[in-house]
Amino acid sequence: MISPDEVKARAKLKKNENYKFRTYLKMNADPIKLDEQFYKLHEELFSIYDCSQCRNCCKMYCGMLLQEDIDKVAGQLSISAEDLISQYLEYDQAEMSYKTRHCPCDFLKENGDCALGECKPANCNKYPYTDQPDRIGSLLSIIESASVCPVVYEMLERLKEEYHFKKRKRIYPNDPCPCGSGLKYKKCCGKIN
Ligand code: SF4
Ligand code: SF4
Repeated sequence: MISPDEVKARAKLKKNENYKFRTYLKMNADPIKLDEQFYKLHEELFSIYDCSQCRNCCKMYCGMLLQEDIDKVAGQLSISAEDLISQYLEYDQAEMSYKTRHCPCDFLKENGDCALGECKPANCNKYPYTDQPDRIGSLLSIIESASVCPVVYEMLERLKEEYHFKKRKRIYPNDPCPCGSGLKYKKCCGKIN
């Protein structure tokens, strides 16, 4: 697995390839099968990866708290909800949630632990969301996560292997469509609406 310190630079080099892979998946992948593939890779890779050696998601993003997280987190820190908001948070209108005032997240301790322990927000527990449904609709955020999370970076590389993406020749408009419909590519999956 790629090192957490390298992932941002390595993902930058892969940026164009990753966008092309996204387009390929959007046009060719079965959404249910793709969810299963992401889920399997998520389970397999996070079972062997020690996130305490990384914490890029806490260093490169602010913490995001929903309204329902506020009382629980304030209780964990033994302060009032008002003090939690005034000391640590600001409201993000676009996301309709609170975010920490600083990045790295204000709750990331020097030893790499989260100060919120078991009370960490649901968003943090779900990151990088690769075990969630409808991954075909979230490929842009997955590509973004590949520049933060070494596990997501590895998932995309393994998926490219599974789909033989790097070995595929370029498909021209008049070629038979690779989906097997019998139509020309330009009349089928390559149709421009
Ligand atoms: S979820 Fe990804 S970015 Fe976050 S600590 Fe684990 S490997 Fe690192
Ligand atoms: S709340 Fe905890 S888990 Fe979430 S980003 Fe901050 S330090 Fe990381």
